[in-house]
Amino acid sequence: MVCKRCGSNNIAIQSVPINKKRGCLSTFLHILLLFVPIIGWIVLFSLIRGRRSKVVSMAVCQNCGRQWAV
Ligand SMILES: [Zn+2]
Repeated sequence: MVCKRCGSNNIAIQSVPINKKRGCLSTFLHILLLFVPIIGWIVLFSLIRGRRSKVVSMAVCQNCGRQWAV
């Protein structure tokens, strides 16, 4: 793998959870759903399940710092 910006092949791959921007708002939503019987619990369960699988691999150039999804 080669960096498209500087042409370096000094690339590091790291797993980044893509939901890290949703901080306190999603926690608030989860608490809110906890108080909605049945339907809220189903939505909450599917949200938590979906969140676990959403990890994206990011390539980071060690030379110029460019980041991109693999
Ligand atoms: Zn680079």
